[in-house]
Amino acid sequence: MPEVIIVGSGTGVPSLKRASPAVLIKTHQTNILLDSGPGTLRELLRTNVHYAQLDIILYTHFHPDHISDLIHFLFAAKYEPAFSREMPVFVGGPPGFLNLYGRLRGVFGHWVEPPKQKVSLFEIGPQGAWIYDQDIKVTAFKTTHTEESQGYLLEVSNKKIAYTGDTDYDEHLTEYFQKADLLICEASFPESHKVEGHLTPVLAGQLAAQARVKALVLTHIYPECDQTDILNACRKVYQGPLFVGSDGLCIFV
Ligand SMILES: [Zn+2]
Ligand SMILES: [Zn+2]
Repeated sequence: MPEVIIVGSGTGVPSLKRASPAVLIKTHQTNILLDSGPGTLRELLRTNVHYAQLDIILYTHFHPDHISDLIHFLFAAKYEPAFSREMPVFVGGPPGFLNLYGRLRGVFGHWVEPPKQKVSLFEIGPQGAWIYDQDIKVTAFKTTHTEESQGYLLEVSNKKIAYTGDTDYDEHLTEYFQKADLLICEASFPESHKVEGHLTPVLAGQLAAQARVKALVLTHIYPECDQTDILNACRKVYQGPLFVGSDGLCIFV
């Protein structure tokens, strides 16, 4: 039974209540991290997962609140005693990810170049599929946020777990996570402060209802949204099991 842990339910706004975006999916054998905003590797320790125990890291887009701990990860992975592995950590992102890595190398040089047997970087495009093993398959789908932004559908131990990353409303999204066992959906701003490129709790609920997902967890919550009744706003349009994400929230899928 996969376990989903909201490592950081917040955004790029520094907050003592909500850490930067990151989600951990744990199976019997595999730890998958989705996005890693600033401070994620430290927050991970609260879930008893050390950065060297990650197997897969996937990035949804290149905004600093989602990707900045990649730099920390690459640097820490060079630290020999703590990081010894039989298989590399597979680190993937949308098309342009390898180019971004090249630019990071241009800035930080060999300090962000861990040996290839430790870290393997790759790109996965929208509608692309990537198979890790017989238990884990990843499909990417385009989201409405930045040029490269995409979400992921993870088929893990026969369960379907979808993660939107950052996105605005687009009914076509629901094609990718129809009847998912869990939808991890951004809900950045309240209705009264809707921002282009992001969802509200109501719009997240609409996507979940249209896709008839079996459970919904809201995350990527800005302070403006925290001042509203997130649960009841979403509840008006989505009747299934519903969680308002909080740091450390653990859901057995
Ligand atoms: Zn974001
Ligand atoms: Zn973003």
